Amino acid sequence: MIHSLLFIRLVCLCCLAFLSGGAFAQSPAVPPKDTTAFVRVNVLPMDRERVLRDQVVLVEDGHIAAIGRALAVPEGARIVDGEGSAWLLPGLADMHNHVDGLQDLDLQLALGITTTLHMGEARNSFVGRTRAAIANGERAGPRAFVALAVDGSPRYGHLVVADVDDARAAVRVARSNGYDFIKVYNNLPADAFSALLQEARVHGIPVVGHGVADVGLERQLESGQALVAHAEEFFYTFFPQPAGDDPNAAPDDREIEAAIGLLRRHGTAVVADLVTYETIARQWGRPDVVDAFLRAPESRYLHPALRVSWPLQGYARRSGSLQARAGFLRRFVKAMDEAGVPLLSGTDAPDIPGLVPGFALHRNLAALVEAGLSPHAALATATRVPGDFIRRTRPGLPAFGVVAEGARADLLLVADDPLADLSTLASPMGVMADGRWYPRADLEARRDKIRAAYAQAASTALDASAADR
Ligand SMILES: [Zn+2]
Repeated sequence: MIHSLLFIRLVCLCCLAFLSGGAFAQSPAVPPKDTTAFVRVNVLPMDRERVLRDQVVLVEDGHIAAIGRALAVPEGARIVDGEGSAWLLPGLADMHNHVDGLQDLDLQLALGITTTLHMGEARNSFVGRTRAAIANGERAGPRAFVALAVDGSPRYGHLVVADVDDARAAVRVARSNGYDFIKVYNNLPADAFSALLQEARVHGIPVVGHGVADVGLERQLESGQALVAHAEEFFYTFFPQPAGDDPNAAPDDREIEAAIGLLRRHGTAVVADLVTYETIARQWGRPDVVDAFLRAPESRYLHPALRVSWPLQGYARRSGSLQARAGFLRRFVKAMDEAGVPLLSGTDAPDIPGLVPGFALHRNLAALVEAGLSPHAALATATRVPGDFIRRTRPGLPAFGVVAEGARADLLLVADDPLADLSTLASPMGVMADGRWYPRADLEARRDKIRAAYAQAASTALDASAADR
């Protein structure tokens, strides 16, 4: 009798572990959406360039209910006291990444990221299940948007859409699975691209992505593609290839004007992921650089599978240099910012060696400032502009990316003025995601747990090799 009861309990526990994806049960609890008052905080609302000093920000039921100097705090509300020196700003958005692992999502949250856009090849369990679990408060994490990547050939490992029929079917599959975007890739045939855009419009799914060789960015943007997934796409399907034998020569700066004209005519947004191209450029032909990435302190948070796959990637075995193009991209991004092109921060983490989830976004913000953007403009690429982009392409969702009444309560509390130094954003005093408050101790516990799990995995692997000898 005791045995059979025990058996049933074990079976049930196994079912639960299975249903919850195993790791759910071990994750720290998700805090409730309590009414919260941030008091004595300096607010960086990010709606325009201004600072509101010594404010009260009231959050109710996952939304910002009120902002003001002398607001009454409702009885029973949680009070987070900024003591006049802390800064409250919108949570950050990484709008181009490939993060779908549970630990990586926790890491993003711990580093202040409350919105993420997965740009292709996400696991189905993430698309259908993990995102829903985050949305309904069963597990912690940023709000996750996801794109279905399609290409005309299997060369880059994406879902193949060979013709018009495939294109229509792919849009319906995207809709059934809850994808927010469709991402086009380099080798899509032109007729499939047109059919994809048409069908996607019918179903209200915006199209984003790379330059498509058979179509070209000019026609892609004319057809209504809403976003160019990397600034570097302009090298391949827009800027004329410079004369000479160097395949990685930078275009002439005088070409920039035409690109900006095209973007402005169609109101298209661009992912300004300077950190992506710069990180690739750094390791181009340099296996020692990849080795250094793996030894950097932030790599303690790198999933063991990536520790295996990073050194196997091809960039470190290439020849030549990408530095001229990297320099051009900085000038291109700066010019787009000055011209008012909507720029979104993105990272491509974690598939590209050197880009650890979460940390990579902070490095992208630093790269934007190095390229000449003001700290406010750089910060806008990870707050207000992603919020505007989602509102335009996925209407009906609550606003985010600004501290404003009615917006989603995705907030970041930091110790110092971010406009004086954006690096303060990487060590939050607390993060609020969808109205759920994660104080520093909670965020640190999440980070510690990830680090400990990876260190444990490495040490048991060492034990196993020792036993083998
Ligand atoms: Zn990507």
